[in-house]
Amino acid sequence: MNEKLLEVKDLHVNYDAIEAIKGIDLHVNKGEVVTILGANGAGKTTTLRTLSGLLKATRGSIFFNQQEITHMPAHEIVGLGMSHSPEGRRVFGTLSVEENLMMGAYSLKKHDVQTLEWIYEILPRLKERNKQLAGTLSGGEQQMLAIGRAIMSKPKLLILDEPSLGLAPVLVKVIFKAIKEISKSGVTVLLVEQNAKAALKLANRGYVLELGKITHTGSSEELLSSEVIQEAYLGKK
Ligand code: ATP
Repeated sequence: MNEKLLEVKDLHVNYDAIEAIKGIDLHVNKGEVVTILGANGAGKTTTLRTLSGLLKATRGSIFFNQQEITHMPAHEIVGLGMSHSPEGRRVFGTLSVEENLMMGAYSLKKHDVQTLEWIYEILPRLKERNKQLAGTLSGGEQQMLAIGRAIMSKPKLLILDEPSLGLAPVLVKVIFKAIKEISKSGVTVLLVEQNAKAALKLANRGYVLELGKITHTGSSEELLSSEVIQEAYLGKK
């Protein structure tokens, strides 16, 4: 059964006169991990921010769980079950790790100890540091915290923007393993990554975005074996 959780039709997004997204179509089925690949400036972050209501589409439509959300404010979209972990590890620096996680569950209006324990299981470093102020965590730990906080709200769709950016290889592995566990728990994932190989190994399908347009799409196997993709994104000649 391929039930669409997210569907984007002919999406256009402008920054004043500049058209950053030039009519893209994409979808994410329930239970899938889908990745969007693309070079710097291709429009990946712009796409994600538009999906979660932080930017407004100039044309086109976005459906989440069969409901049109194109013009919905961001907080209402969160309430429907879409959670966005932005690029750049935005954590509340003066709050502890655990307080940051609790902020993620704020919309549930209760202390969700079970989800907290589960996050500590898949990201044990957060448990070790649970009383530490988030601002004093390393970059990789802050990234883990940003992901943990995004899943505290028990989203249907988790959107991750560059979760492995700037991390040492060993931490990249930890992050990807955690995303796999999150996916196994039933959360659908839309992932933007510079680390194309790792992203495709984890994902079911992918889209390649170039200058605001989708130029390739297919299963991860198809994209991994495509010569064009290998040359442009997987560092092979
Ligand atoms: P990166 O991998 O470098 O983060 P990206 O694929 O996420 O890149 P976007 O950040 O979505 O790309 O940017 C897409 C285009 O829109 C770029 O040309 C960028 O310069 C432009 N852009 C992004 N934000 C703004 C803004 N606030 N005002 C004007 N132009 C912007």
